[in-house]
Amino acid sequence: MISGVTPPDVLVVGASVAGLSTVEALRRKGYEGKVTVLGDEPHAPYDRPPLSKQVLSGAWEPERARLRRHDALSALAADFVLGDAATALDVGADQGSAIVHTAAGRTWSAGAVVVATGARPRPLPGMPGMPGMPGLAGVHLLRTLDDAIALRANLLTASRLVVVGDGVLGAEVAATATSMGLAVTLTGPQRLPMAGQLGTLVAARLAALHTARGVNLRLGEAVDGLVGERGTVTGVRLGGGEVIAADVVVAIGAIPHTSWLESSGLRLDDGLVCDEHCRAADRVYAVGDVARWRHEALGLSRLENRTNATEQARVVAAGIMGEQLRYAPVPYFWTDQFDVKIQVHGTLAARAEVTIVDGEIGEGRFVARYERDGAVTGVLGWNMPKQTRLRRQEILDSLTPAPGTSHREKT
Ligand SMILES: Cc1cc2nc3c(=O)[nH]c(=O)nc-3n(C[C@H](O)[C@H](O)[C@H](O)COP(=O)(O)OP(=O)(O)OC[C@H]3O[C@@H](n4cnc5c(N)ncnc54)[C@H](O)[C@@H]3O)c2cc1C
Repeated sequence: MISGVTPPDVLVVGASVAGLSTVEALRRKGYEGKVTVLGDEPHAPYDRPPLSKQVLSGAWEPERARLRRHDALSALAADFVLGDAATALDVGADQGSAIVHTAAGRTWSAGAVVVATGARPRPLPGMPGMPGMPGLAGVHLLRTLDDAIALRANLLTASRLVVVGDGVLGAEVAATATSMGLAVTLTGPQRLPMAGQLGTLVAARLAALHTARGVNLRLGEAVDGLVGERGTVTGVRLGGGEVIAADVVVAIGAIPHTSWLESSGLRLDDGLVCDEHCRAADRVYAVGDVARWRHEALGLSRLENRTNATEQARVVAAGIMGEQLRYAPVPYFWTDQFDVKIQVHGTLAARAEVTIVDGEIGEGRFVARYERDGAVTGVLGWNMPKQTRLRRQEILDSLTPAPGTSHREKT
């Protein structure tokens, strides 16, 4: 169904996968208006998943992380304005257009603005070496290509790495750096790596994998601060006072990049809050890691994964062209650690009942099904991609309300 008036111009803020996918989807749908993409990084759009894997390990040259070749970008007939950050959004100052201001003093007016500013590393309060604190050499964050290049350079001359963060990215970096020959300690408040994302059963299997490959797990205790000598980090101090020696420390964690929207009047609450069409206000849409939208089955949701960035972009492009699609995906993410590929469809609800439905944990190949209140909420595959994918339908069946019923509203 096409309705409404298609705006004559679109400004996409954020020149990464979600922003680029929105432009591609617009052009595929036949949008002929002017498109501008504003990005604060100096680089053409590149992909982040390889940063903690192939780029960090050196298996890929950084150049290979580029999302599109130069000619494919040119074919989009979009203006890429790079190296300048949006600093403010004025939603309706002018009839029919929104206005974006930038750090370099530019002003853009557009009939539709797409917020695709992703996430940024979460600074750890009170830790030196984090933004706003006196820097210590050897302390890294990991979000951008430049971060990955700097971390790799440092790892090549170091022998001990401490990773602060027990989620997916922390576990990936620990695996990659161990494979590069470093002595790695993984720290974080959870008792098992990725326990929040995977549940206890599979997180215990992941812990066993990391331990068997030589990662030192010091979990269940939050990091209290860093220690250093002569401007260089020498260790990480845990809550109980123990100091773990390190030549390099990488801190993991991300928060949605919405600070530039604070004066916009839009609702910011762990992301830019949107309706089920990914629309935050008239003329303003959000896509990717920054978007918190109303999923008709799951309630207000925000996903930090690669697949979401492209799937959501298609709905946003349709919305700009007047086609009101509801965005209600089955969430999906994957992670590669050592020689294991973990794939997760749906949500692995806390306190879910977990059943191994294919393969066996002990064999290193299995599919686990997560159920809550009799409904399948998620499926996890451990080195079993095809079998995992086949079970996605079970989640869809649970997400789709039976006729005459409706899903509970969650916020
Ligand atoms: C190291 C790493 C590894 C990952 N591995 C996986 C994986 O294995 N599997 C998986 O599913 N997902 C993975 N992800 C997550 C996935 O990469 C993200 O979900 C995806 O990049 C989100 O895309 P995005 O375009 O929404 O945001 P981003 O990729 O964060 O891009 C946002 C862009 O907007 C720019 N920007 C921010 N603020 C402004 C501003 N004010 N003005 C202009 N530009 C601005 C940013 O600099 C950035 O370039 C990984 C992420 C990281 C960091």
